[in-house]
Amino acid sequence: MGEDPASQVYVRNKERACEECGIYSEKYALPEETTQDELLALIDKLNKQENISGILVQLPVPAHIDEKTVINAIDPKKDVDAFHPVNVGKIMVGNYDFVPCTPAGVMELIKESGIDVTGKECVVVGRSNIVGKPQAMLLLHSNGTVTICHSKTKDLAEKTKAADILVAAVGIPNFIKGDMIKEGAVVIDVGINRLENKKLCGDVEFESAEKVAGAITPVPGGVGPMTVAMLMKNTVRAAVVNGTK
Ligand code: NDP
Repeated sequence: MGEDPASQVYVRNKERACEECGIYSEKYALPEETTQDELLALIDKLNKQENISGILVQLPVPAHIDEKTVINAIDPKKDVDAFHPVNVGKIMVGNYDFVPCTPAGVMELIKESGIDVTGKECVVVGRSNIVGKPQAMLLLHSNGTVTICHSKTKDLAEKTKAADILVAAVGIPNFIKGDMIKEGAVVIDVGINRLENKKLCGDVEFESAEKVAGAITPVPGGVGPMTVAMLMKNTVRAAVVNGTK
């Protein structure tokens, strides 16, 4: 909904990924002034539409729309973002169909890089419902010892320096510096921040961090494309769950 430029880029990338994967998709670019009832009616229609296995509402929604109400309106079996409380609860108990795309992408990067999480000190900076919290839970399911940090955390650098695996999901450009990272640590930068010069940068200061990290993800690149890839994976999974033809 609306004209958020970042959202428009994300939606375009998702549409393109669907085309590349051969997944049928429909896009509804709703004007800013669309009412909540109109949005809920569209979600209800798509919940019932048999040829649709996954529904994603690109966040953020405009201020007059209640995000929770919208998320709760999506059929949990079609909730390919895994934001519905039913899916959040399933992740908590470790029995899930869908995993939120960004944390799932981080786990895939770790796995594909041959890094074993078992017994590792994992520090997640950020506790949002879409990244930090599910990220911590997935690392825990992979047998990491997990610490979650946030804006009220004391001695943050002390915590980050203890991390074998450090995930930054803060939303502040270049927030994690090299001297906050343990020698040889795996550093995963979820942040996507647009600077005044229009360049994208992460939450980790790459130049200083790469000198100490054993492995590190860049921004752009790194986690961003993985998020879209995991959305495609969830959508295929949803087609199986829903028996969509
Ligand atoms: P939120 O703003 O929802 O959460 C940010 C978190 O960072 C909060 O938990 C906040 O703590 C914490 N934080 C803020 N300041 C500090 C500080 N000084 N010290 C420690 N912690 C702090 O952001 P999101 O989780 O939605 O996104 C985080 C970043 O990831 C953003 O840059 C976003 O653009 C990016 N992103 C990237 C995606 C991708 O595909 N790669 C997908 C989604 C997000 P508190 O809870 O106390 O306020």
